[in-house]
Amino acid sequence: MPKPAANSKRSTRSVRAKAPRVLTGTVYITRQVHFNSAHRLYNPTKSQAWNTKQYGMCTNPHWHGHNYVLEVTLKGQPDPDTGYIVDLGELKRILNRAVVDKCDHRNLNDEVDFLRGIIPSTENLVIAFWQEIEPHITAGKLHCVKLYETPRNFAEYFGPDAAS
Ligand SMILES: [Zn+2]
Repeated sequence: MPKPAANSKRSTRSVRAKAPRVLTGTVYITRQVHFNSAHRLYNPTKSQAWNTKQYGMCTNPHWHGHNYVLEVTLKGQPDPDTGYIVDLGELKRILNRAVVDKCDHRNLNDEVDFLRGIIPSTENLVIAFWQEIEPHITAGKLHCVKLYETPRNFAEYFGPDAAS
């Protein structure tokens, strides 16, 4: 009677899984999240006339809202074991904790601690969001924070090192 295959040395080798082929390359991976917020563009050190001239309807003292779309891009090499730079579910959790949970259905001028005192323009928001998100990134490197205020208006920030 032949030996059971599992006992042979050859068989033990053959059941060992073959390691996946590893591809190397720098990849940019993006997660998109959404939130709705109210805000007003207003510089309190300037006159109402100055604010109206600068911001028009956007300085309406009774606020207005946007359906914001935030896209956050990480840069890195895929991990040989997972093929991921980052688990996008984990990145979603980071973005929710750092930004969405604090801003969604809030007034950005009055209700968000990390935005206090800032004119909540799209430009300022991407810098503020970078500062909130970056400390939580443990896989890959934060590359870009992109915020759509409307489908046609958006700002991108590539971090303090990308200046000039
Ligand atoms: Zn606005």
